[in-house]
Amino acid sequence: MDNAYYPDQHHPTLYFDDGNVVLSARTQDGSFQYFRVHHSVLCRHSPVLADMFALPPLRASGSRDMLEETYDGVLHVQMPDTAEDLASFLGVLYDPLGTAYKRFNPNTPVLVEGTLKLATKYECDAIRTRIVENLEADWPQTLAQWDARRSECILLRSEHAQQFTGKINGLYLDDRLPEPASAIRVATDYNLPSILPAAFYQLALLSTDADWDEYRANPGKHLRFGARTARWRLLDKRDLMRLVHGQKVLAGHTRAIGTDIFGKRCQRGIKVCAKARTECWKYFQENAPISMDDPLDILYDCSRLETLFTDLPCGACVQDIATSAEKKRRELWRSLPAIFNLQA
Ligand SMILES: [Zn+2]
Repeated sequence: MDNAYYPDQHHPTLYFDDGNVVLSARTQDGSFQYFRVHHSVLCRHSPVLADMFALPPLRASGSRDMLEETYDGVLHVQMPDTAEDLASFLGVLYDPLGTAYKRFNPNTPVLVEGTLKLATKYECDAIRTRIVENLEADWPQTLAQWDARRSECILLRSEHAQQFTGKINGLYLDDRLPEPASAIRVATDYNLPSILPAAFYQLALLSTDADWDEYRANPGKHLRFGARTARWRLLDKRDLMRLVHGQKVLAGHTRAIGTDIFGKRCQRGIKVCAKARTECWKYFQENAPISMDDPLDILYDCSRLETLFTDLPCGACVQDIATSAEKKRRELWRSLPAIFNLQA
């Protein structure tokens, strides 16, 4: 066993000639993969691994202790993790600036999942913090961040719409914005509640038909025209219950805009204002069927009525609508955790 050598099972990039410890792990298809890395690097990042290596190698004959094994002339440790997770984790230790962290990359949650799992298990706090910071940067924590992201999305969308193929640098719009379902999966599994409100809100804007994999099987049909998708298969029953609950409550918020904002009377008692308010609300209902699912968006537009309409109510009404809309928008943003039942 000591002399066994399987070069074709060495990891293509994480097998360093000068490494002084070999870690092996089973891949998902059942074969083994070998990583030759550095004791000092592992110990520097992980107190758990440092403790493990601090144990004296047991040499008692007949002992099955993993520490007495060697591979390729150095200490060999069989890891209980999958080779895929280990590759992701070691990849970050050796290439902290890796591509997984590109801003707004919809694959980030999928790519960091293995690293996050092992960074949590092996108590690599700095790495975990770093991943969490990167995920948080992709999902607004404040209304101001949400607004900034909204403007950025509108700009991106118009850039893509100008392309016949719908692609820029080989990417569709959907390849350039964070994907909510994988973010929700990672956030729920690894206790990262800060990104859930924005991710659920984004998810609530999507149709369940808009599936990440299905749309990619025939990209000319939807992705080319700027469709947004989610990896629906990653969601579990609790996530879907939260989504359904949230969508129902959000629909109520949208209806309330009609009554609480556009249904109010003119403070100056000008008669035509009531009609103008009704017309504005009608416009939102008729011309923005998609944004009817997006009360934050409608409320945002309520502060800019003069950019949308020519037949406006009086100045006092316009001001009143803008003020009430902004107040409602802040309240709505603050209630997102409750709307999606995230506190439980
Ligand atoms: Zn008025």
